[in-house]
Amino acid sequence: MTFKVPELEYDYDALEPFIDAKTMEIHHDKHHVGYVKKLNDAVKGTELEGKEIEEILKNLDSIPKDIRQNVVNNGGGHFNHSLFWKIMTPDKSKRKFKGKVAEAINKKFGSFEDFKEKFKDIALKRFGSGWAWLVSDKNGEISIISTANQDCPLSVGAIPVLGLDVWEHAYYLKYQNKRDEYIDTWFNVINWEKVNEIYEGTMEN
Ligand code: MN
Repeated sequence: MTFKVPELEYDYDALEPFIDAKTMEIHHDKHHVGYVKKLNDAVKGTELEGKEIEEILKNLDSIPKDIRQNVVNNGGGHFNHSLFWKIMTPDKSKRKFKGKVAEAINKKFGSFEDFKEKFKDIALKRFGSGWAWLVSDKNGEISIISTANQDCPLSVGAIPVLGLDVWEHAYYLKYQNKRDEYIDTWFNVINWEKVNEIYEGTMEN
């Protein structure tokens, strides 16, 4: 097996009451596992076997045409979810909005509240399934974008720093059609310590 689903660093119920245990279990053990299985099937016996997922998603043109969309969907699903699990935490001490990423956000958007409003707006406007992102370039210049389906920001030259899954499978059990409540709630579990670490890493190369 080339790609593996990373273990969750916390229990399924650790993000309660914000994200419910059943959603976490199905999301991680069924959806993410499904993406990885299909990704491994797709790359088997091709030149992509053994490559890093980041490398693959940064160079979509180099993916053989007959498996390209499959790899975009399932490889993106793998990368995006791997990030998603990491940028949430039950540890309150890691949920503090601070560090270089907080400075960059305040500078770009004015305040945390202004950032949240803009991020939420973009997440709400994503029609159908997809993601909302805080991305950075190599100079630490940040922006908020949205992608459809499992499309990954890496494929358009942006580095994902923070990502929110707005597929219904991410919230439907607890929030049903209320995506806006899910988004508001999700802001409570962001691991800003990790997000800051990722942001600082974008400027190291
Ligand atoms: Mn998902």
